[in-house]
Amino acid sequence: MRDGNCIFCKIANGEIPSATVYEDEIFRVILDLGPASRGHALILPKEHFKDLCEADPATMAKILPLAGKIGMAMKEKLGANGFNVVQNNGASAGQTVFHLHVHVIPRYEGGPVMVSWTPGEEEPKELEKIAEMIKKGL
Ligand code: AMP
Ligand code: ZN
Repeated sequence: MRDGNCIFCKIANGEIPSATVYEDEIFRVILDLGPASRGHALILPKEHFKDLCEADPATMAKILPLAGKIGMAMKEKLGANGFNVVQNNGASAGQTVFHLHVHVIPRYEGGPVMVSWTPGEEEPKELEKIAEMIKKGL
């Protein structure tokens, strides 16, 4: 299903032009218009899913292997030393376009660390409690 008001539906299905690096029946991979680094790519399913919670498992099973393939091409052809695979779900997680997408961000020697956090602290008892809460939702 597509969403007529969704820009990524239009890009993924070729109605709006994009710098496409890969396309098959299920996905289009484009370059991000506001790249975090040189070659920052977005994997867009052609079907509209708002986020990972809505996504079709068969599509999702293919997305990580594709991210790995794109990342390897970035290492081989752009001279990247590594890459981050990032996928945001919900506004509070930084999602700004509500059509599921996976960022593949090439990383270069000496470049800034972009996907990181400051480690916090938690008591083992509290970790157990939190783990139980999550388990109940599975
Ligand atoms: P997110 O914050 O995970 O929702 O990521 C949305 C990404 O889409 C951002 O990195 C934007 O720079 C990128 N973006 C938004 N509109 C376009 C567009 N028309 N073409 C390419 N990238 C886009
Ligand atoms: Zn869409």
